[in-house]
Amino acid sequence: MKLLTKSRIIVIRARAYAQFEDYTLNGANGKYTVIHNADTRRCYSVDLHARTCDCPACEKEGYCKHCAMVQLEEVVRERHEQWKAEWEAEREAYCDRYAKY
Ligand SMILES: [Zn+2]
Repeated sequence: MKLLTKSRIIVIRARAYAQFEDYTLNGANGKYTVIHNADTRRCYSVDLHARTCDCPACEKEGYCKHCAMVQLEEVVRERHEQWKAEWEAEREAYCDRYAKY
């Protein structure tokens, strides 16, 4: 398996981001099932820890848009948790400050 160039990785990621809404991702902690919404037979298992996806593209190149989608999903979830925690803290501070009025 040849090593991917940076520009090849960028192309794969761009494709993943462009098609992100066309797929459903089920899973957590790096292990996901990535299902094509319009054709559910196109369903792939991604394991980020093992750096694998069972699609033909990943078998050939060792990276694919499904892996990129899982990486994106994990960033989104992490940010969401961060945002939720910040929002909770802000809400609590607000309630403490204005509870006496
Ligand atoms: Zn794949």
